Parts: sequence; structure tokens; C-alpha cells
Amino acid sequence: MHELAIAQSIVDVVEAKLVECKAARVKSVRLRIGEGSGIVAHSLTFSFEVLTSFDPALTGAQLLIDVVPHRARCHHCSTEFTIANFIAQCPICAEWSNEVISGTELQILEMEIEGR
Ligand SMILES: [Zn+2]
Repeated sequence: MHELAIAQSIVDVVEAKLVECKAARVKSVRLRIGEGSGIVAHSLTFSFEVLTSFDPALTGAQLLIDVVPHRARCHHCSTEFTIANFIAQCPICAEWSNEVISGTELQILEMEIEGR
């Protein structure tokens, strides 16, 4: 359960932020997740809901996920293309040599918190 560990890290960051801002509760957390990160969004949402249910300051917080397409640039012809199902073959020249340019990220973009 890769997503459970990631959800726990997010909860840790959010809890630290609540303390730092002396806030009472968090309403939502927005993430950016790359399609090529291997993270399953609905598993992550489920894990987040389970973990936040143990902390009244986080219960009911919404996890908002922006998905970033998995894209690469071909080393041979410089075409930029979308990697579907982790198959990173250039659609133009059929080369397998490329550089991933987006889609492997996991970032917390913002969170909405409420004061006391
Ligand atoms: Zn190519």
C-alpha cells in the first residue's frame, strides 16, 4: 500500500502546517500528481479519508487532485509525446530513447485552512 504511506506524509505536512498557522481545521488540500508517478489517485483519496478520520482537525478535509500528463521528448527527433500506459516509444520515429519532461511529480499545491 504505497498510497497509504504517501497519504500519511501528506497528513503529517498538513498537521504541521495547522500548528504553524495556529489554525483549527483544514478544509481541503490540493495536490499535483503525475500520471507517471505510479500513484493511484482513488487509493490515495481513500487512504487520506481513513487517516484524516482519526484527527478532528482534518476530518472531512477534501483531497483535490490535479493530474499532470506523463510526457516525454524523443532523443532522436525531438518530438514531445504523451506516454500511455508507461509505453515510452516515440510515435513518429519509433525510438525508445527519450527524456521524461512531465508526469512524475507529487506536490502539495495549496491547502485551505480555517482559524480558531
Ligand atoms: Zn522520435
